Amino acid sequence: MSRAVLFIDRDALYENVKNLYLFSKKPIIAVVKADAYGVGATYVANILEQVEEVSALAVACVEEGVELRRLGIKKKILVLGGVLKGEERALVEYKLTPVVSHVEHLKALEGLNLHIQVKYDTGMGRLGFLEDVAQDSRVEGILSHLSSPLEEDFSLLQIERFRKIVSLYGSLPYIHMESSAGVVYRVPFTTHIRVGLALYGEKPFPAYPIELKRVLRLRARIISVKKLPAGFPISYSRTYTTEGPAEVGVIAFGYADGLMKSLSNKAYLYYKDKPVRILGNITMDMTMVDLTNTGAGVGDWVDLVGELQSFSDLAKLAGTIPYELMTNLSKRIERRVVCGIGCEILQENS
Ligand SMILES: *Cc1c(COP(=O)(O)O)cnc(C)c1O
Repeated sequence: MSRAVLFIDRDALYENVKNLYLFSKKPIIAVVKADAYGVGATYVANILEQVEEVSALAVACVEEGVELRRLGIKKKILVLGGVLKGEERALVEYKLTPVVSHVEHLKALEGLNLHIQVKYDTGMGRLGFLEDVAQDSRVEGILSHLSSPLEEDFSLLQIERFRKIVSLYGSLPYIHMESSAGVVYRVPFTTHIRVGLALYGEKPFPAYPIELKRVLRLRARIISVKKLPAGFPISYSRTYTTEGPAEVGVIAFGYADGLMKSLSNKAYLYYKDKPVRILGNITMDMTMVDLTNTGAGVGDWVDLVGELQSFSDLAKLAGTIPYELMTNLSKRIERRVVCGIGCEILQENS
């Protein structure tokens, strides 16, 4: 058994897909890049493979696509990051669908018989063509990406630019631009939504109009608890000193596991639904917390993320976004798929 576990609630994931579908009335391209946002692509893709409303998965690069095919994923897999010379063989062999956003990508695909999707840059300043590219009979879809979905005026400008490009094409089976936050625009001419964060139960902003179930629960074990007298320093550089006698616990989870050092002396974790404060600097593999009067002992579990705290909450305290926190979750955290909190284990790391 591992000292830190990330529980993935399969039923909550299903429900989030369903709610996104009911809100947008469009099937979903599920973004599982970066090991499914750090959650574990193996687990997430196996769940989404069974969900009818998910018509495709999207990854950042060819390697990630190949990994999913080797797992046995049969759904369409979009490679968002384009295709470089030398990667085209794997695309064909593993039946991956490249998103083309540069003439060099088109050159790498010359003479190959596969479907492609074309990306347009309507204001992200990252990937995509600025103008209509030569029509290619292999094009099955076009896409664009919102840079600032929380800003309505700019998003509507991007949507309008994309509408003009869409009108240059005939009907296509794939037209998409709405990410998790972008779904609120209910773009009338797109066929799919392309979402990541919301699937995992994290709201892109507090007033998000779609109900999301908490998918993730992150717990770590206490490996030591001891009484320390008043005035005792805690951790590297002694940034905290006990105010009175305190019971100080050590959690087997540090910045190498993904708990950013900037949360030192700031965030609370939860022991049996009671907040316990982080004391002193977070270290590589361990974090100290104040367990005074909680009755917690060695071997007990502390929740970092769960009903009482989301990745978004922690990210806000750390001055970052949930995406960064999640994608920093380390390999040594065990992943367990469960059907509902506290329910039987469905799939476990071997
Ligand atoms: C990551 C990504 C998404 C998903 O964004 P979320 O905010 O997680 O929904 C969609 N489209 C592109 C191009 C992306 O890079």
